[in-house]
Amino acid sequence: MKTMWAPWRMEYILGDKEETCIFCSAISEKDELMLYRGDKTIVVMNKYPYINGHLLVAPVRHVAALDQLKRSEKGPLLETVEKAIGILKEAMQPDGFNVGLNLGKVAGAGVEEHLHFHIVPRWFGDTNALTVFADLRVIPEHLKATCDKLKSYFKKLSL
Ligand SMILES: [Zn+2]
Repeated sequence: MKTMWAPWRMEYILGDKEETCIFCSAISEKDELMLYRGDKTIVVMNKYPYINGHLLVAPVRHVAALDQLKRSEKGPLLETVEKAIGILKEAMQPDGFNVGLNLGKVAGAGVEEHLHFHIVPRWFGDTNALTVFADLRVIPEHLKATCDKLKSYFKKLSL
């Protein structure tokens, strides 16, 4: 099995964990990494991505588990995942995606208390490319540039 090399994640792993929920504060403070803010769902760039274009899709409401979602929230959540994948396909032409939920610390959840889907675009050979391009100083620029690019797509999104 190949392991993805993402050294900038050490900044997250070793850094002070934020006290407040990052999703709720992204909503209230109009985070610059916020790509979409709907009635029921949000899309934000992962500040500590495994790879460029790594998005997080979350319900607006602060809930930790799928069974805490209302029926009226489940549809829009999946639809937002679908649309986000569509936008990444158009904007970044990945060869595939990893999409999933990390439920619980043991499963790798960084923010356990606010449910969120990870959408990770994948390119053939990206595990090799990452070892070449991985550089702490470059990543924030990647993040900002990708964010600006994706914002223009999400602007047109309505659910
Ligand atoms: Zn929250």
